[in-house]
Amino acid sequence: TCGICVEKCPFDAIEIINLPQELQDDPVHRYGENAFSMYGLPVPQEGQVTGILGPNGIGKTTAVRMLAGELEPNLGNYADPPGWEAVLDAYRGTELQDYIADVRDGDVTVARKPQYVDQIPNQFDGNTRELLEHTDERGELDYLVDRLSIRPVMDQAIDDLSGGELQRVALAAALARDADFYFLDEITPYLDIGQRVTAARLVRELAEEDDKSMLVVEHDLAILDLLCDTLHMAYGEPGAYGVITDPKSVRNGINEYLKGYLENENMRIRPDRIEFEEHAPRTESQGDTLVTYPDLRKSYGDGEFALDVSGGEIRENEVLGIVGPNGIGKSTFAKLLTGDLEPTEGDADLDLDISYKPQYVTIDQPMRVDAFLSSITDQFGSSYWNTEIAQPLQLDRIMEQNLSDLSGGERQRVAIAACLSDTADLYLLDEPSAHLDVEQRVQATRAIRRYAEQQDATVLVIDHDIYMIDLLADRLMVFDGEPAVAGRAGTPQSMRGGMNDFLSNLEITFRRDERTSRPRINKPDSQLDREQKREGEYYYAP
Ligand code: ADP
Ligand code: ADP
Repeated sequence: TCGICVEKCPFDAIEIINLPQELQDDPVHRYGENAFSMYGLPVPQEGQVTGILGPNGIGKTTAVRMLAGELEPNLGNYADPPGWEAVLDAYRGTELQDYIADVRDGDVTVARKPQYVDQIPNQFDGNTRELLEHTDERGELDYLVDRLSIRPVMDQAIDDLSGGELQRVALAAALARDADFYFLDEITPYLDIGQRVTAARLVRELAEEDDKSMLVVEHDLAILDLLCDTLHMAYGEPGAYGVITDPKSVRNGINEYLKGYLENENMRIRPDRIEFEEHAPRTESQGDTLVTYPDLRKSYGDGEFALDVSGGEIRENEVLGIVGPNGIGKSTFAKLLTGDLEPTEGDADLDLDISYKPQYVTIDQPMRVDAFLSSITDQFGSSYWNTEIAQPLQLDRIMEQNLSDLSGGERQRVAIAACLSDTADLYLLDEPSAHLDVEQRVQATRAIRRYAEQQDATVLVIDHDIYMIDLLADRLMVFDGEPAVAGRAGTPQSMRGGMNDFLSNLEITFRRDERTSRPRINKPDSQLDREQKREGEYYYAP
């Protein structure tokens, strides 16, 4: 080993030729002997949105606490912390010098949006209006409330808000403040694509129009790309050390991330690259029909919400992506297929064995992860299962934990594993990207795709992460209508037709990065945006 890692080398996929420069220097902070060490700090800049891209657990919160002045960096000397003067000396002549001087003088005010919005109801009793009224330091609250469509829930108890509503309220609360430095730990969880784009634009406005410093951690790559001016990559070994690199351009940062190799750092973070296709996959020649379902209607109560489904077919051995705004009936459709819900009109009795991972995962029996998974499949522990399921979903580290002690991301990975491990005709995954960091999404996507190919399985995936849908799906089913009022489920169609339907509803077009072909959201009303809308090509090259 190189003497840094506590346990095994995290880079065993490659041969270490050179220790990265960052790790040859002293850390910014070390929590104690053999405790977590942090190398490098992000650089907030006035008028800019700075992003951090990397997995959870490698010190992003630690770095932010230092930038907020809550944690005094000890430069590795945990026994005898040298104090702010020494920290300032260490950063003299760097871009952080002025910022650190301000932190030392107590001159930096910070507004923060926490990562886990689900915990807000435990900390606050009252309704949305009461939560927000203390935050209106810039006189912009009304504007934010409208842009984020929070108005309808202003008088609702925080306890009763959905995840997506909580996320938007938390964003409004942070952005309404008058601070020097804003730290937003993920802006997309629970939001649909339209809401994600709006959130990203509001963050940009605050940087551009009010000259604020914004720092954002985000795992949805399409949104991160839209959001940031510069990007720090974060890598390391959870619990042992974390490195935050010097800033890169957003384009280079994301391209290097997808390639799995950080150029300046000479650091491989993944053995292989992630590739996007410029052209939509062909579907004509594919698969027999697994099942045909008829037109269906489902309405709740006195018709508060109604979903109309246009009948269609699901093909054997395809991955069918399902997209559409929140509250439009996607989960309702899933439950009609599984038989958990009876349609109001039509016959949804499909006579299929369906393995279903619901949107809100509630596996919290008093049972260990390994016991739970081995109760689902007798493949548990086989080399095939280990390579295809346990490894990509990073289950090794949590096998001996109790289901009830798992974090959101851990629970999600166990639930995906459980869903895929079952024997079924159809695998249905509702929002597998939720709570996963960027690298876990990449690995989960790969696991689901490989599973479909190797097991000749048919998979339906509902998700809002456009990169995940692109990498997974062969065809697409698009939902539209008016959220919480009426939804329509379209017939499954080709990726190209589906993306065009979906994105034209949202009025968003994508271009392709020249080097990697990855999709990038166009600026509204840019030349490409107007051209593509005129030609009706919102996503794929014709
Ligand atoms: P992230 O925000 O990237 O998820 P954190 O900065 O919260 O990561 O944590 C990074 C590592 O530092 C974790 O392994 C955590 O256990 C460790 N850590 C955080 N706070 C302390 C502390 N006060 N003492 C010792 N270790 C800590
Ligand atoms: P999506 O999965 O697209 O976000 P859902 O299918 O979960 O949408 O919900 C669609 C609409 O139906 C929402 O307005 C939701 O509040 C409502 N709804 C869902 N389940 C019920 C139910 N059991 N009773 C009444 N309304 C419901």
